[in-house]
Amino acid sequence: MTDQANIPASAAEGAGCHGGRDTMRQAAAAAGKSETLERYARDYPAGPHDQPQSMCPAFGSLRVGLRMRRTATILSGSACCVYGLTFTSHFYGARRTVGYVPFNSETLVTGKLFEDIREAVLKLADPAQHDAVVIINLCVPTASGVPLQLLPKEINGVRIIGIDVPGFGVPTHAEAKDVLAGAMLQYARAEAEAGPVQAPRAGRSAKPTVTLVGEVFPADPVGIGMLLEPLGLAAGQVVPTREWRELYAALDCAAVAAIHPFYTAAIREFEAAGRPVVPSAPVGHDGTAAWLDAIAEACNVPPDRVAAAKNRFLPAIRGALAAAPIKGRITLSGYEGSELLVGRLLVESGADLRYVGTACPRTRWSDPDREWLEARGVRVQYRASLEQDVAAMDEFSPDLVVGTTPVVQKAKERAIPSLYFTNLISSRPLMGPAGAGSLAQVINVAMSGKARFDEMQAFFGSVGQGANAGIWQDVPRDRPEFKASYRRRLDKQKRAAEEHG
Ligand code: SF4
Repeated sequence: MTDQANIPASAAEGAGCHGGRDTMRQAAAAAGKSETLERYARDYPAGPHDQPQSMCPAFGSLRVGLRMRRTATILSGSACCVYGLTFTSHFYGARRTVGYVPFNSETLVTGKLFEDIREAVLKLADPAQHDAVVIINLCVPTASGVPLQLLPKEINGVRIIGIDVPGFGVPTHAEAKDVLAGAMLQYARAEAEAGPVQAPRAGRSAKPTVTLVGEVFPADPVGIGMLLEPLGLAAGQVVPTREWRELYAALDCAAVAAIHPFYTAAIREFEAAGRPVVPSAPVGHDGTAAWLDAIAEACNVPPDRVAAAKNRFLPAIRGALAAAPIKGRITLSGYEGSELLVGRLLVESGADLRYVGTACPRTRWSDPDREWLEARGVRVQYRASLEQDVAAMDEFSPDLVVGTTPVVQKAKERAIPSLYFTNLISSRPLMGPAGAGSLAQVINVAMSGKARFDEMQAFFGSVGQGANAGIWQDVPRDRPEFKASYRRRLDKQKRAAEEHG
């Protein structure tokens, strides 16, 4: 007899990043994951094309789990996926154990994998060590319908959070952060509604707080706190939080600042808790002025206080921007969610910015930034593909390319100075007076390297390109005749197949 549950499992097994997204989606839907996939499709719209080229999306959820104290994070997925994700986690300094429940054809198809996951969760649910255990279904277990929703919600006081984070359902690792942050906030909100909950480790703030949504540079919450002080407010928790108890304080805020605009599920929880959400962020002169107004409106702050804050900070921001000018044409792309904010800072620093590409989707939380940039002639591309980023570089002939690894690689091939967005740009303070002049030095140093790039290009010529790539004993020789011969044979085969119907 055919076991219906086995069909998706067998379809999914062996598939992966390159294994046919439609097959995986169909398998997952047939295995009972339609509701989750439909929610992801609503939360993380894919267009204009399917999916930006990016690392495995599950890394976002894994990273959020690994950065939390007293939280165990377990992956359920193919060994190759888990290897890659574990490697990347430790490359980025996780300093935590990544849990793994392995599977094989038999445990996947018979449903034993779910039992193995349950056993692992039971073992880890020690309240002396953990507040929460997070278990992440990767592509194959999601497509096979491994039912994490059937895990107990809590064991010995330890919360159990099971999430599906398939590459065929969650477009970017940025949005995968939201999947876990949203699931945790939902759980914490239900706890807070049911009765008293723990205060954060540092105690409750004496002032009303503004929760900051997005993984910002560590100095930024301090800078934002200084901006909020004249308004009678304080910077609150940063979401994703670093500890479970911070989730309650995050929800217990006067307003939420959607600093990174892609946290759709997390923001849904804040809105369900009745918190107003403010878009954009305090970047540069105009961004800070507009953000202070928006926060003041959300928190009913009297106009004289807003004026006092603006008088204190805006001249300092203007001064910092003027003291650190950027001269040159730039194209910019990334997948962190802060691309438009960085774009604003570059324009206010004097840069001739032509293009901002982001892997993240368009949401209303970045509308003010998009409108501001477009009003200054900058093309903004959401869900930008590698091809679009490279086409922008070719179209605008920039003095500097800020981009993802493959974009930077292509810029270097063309002898254009370039900087990695994630490592070199988004890991700096961006907000308020501290952020105002923070980009100029790294950008200007990079742009001044153009002559060296030209020298290297002239010296190496076409060495290392095309058929010359790699290490060789002899002088490499391209063999275009081989490719032409394959092409002829393939065409012949195709014609024969057409003739025979
Ligand atoms: S879990 Fe990640 S690495 Fe594995 S198949 Fe899915 S998208 Fe690819």
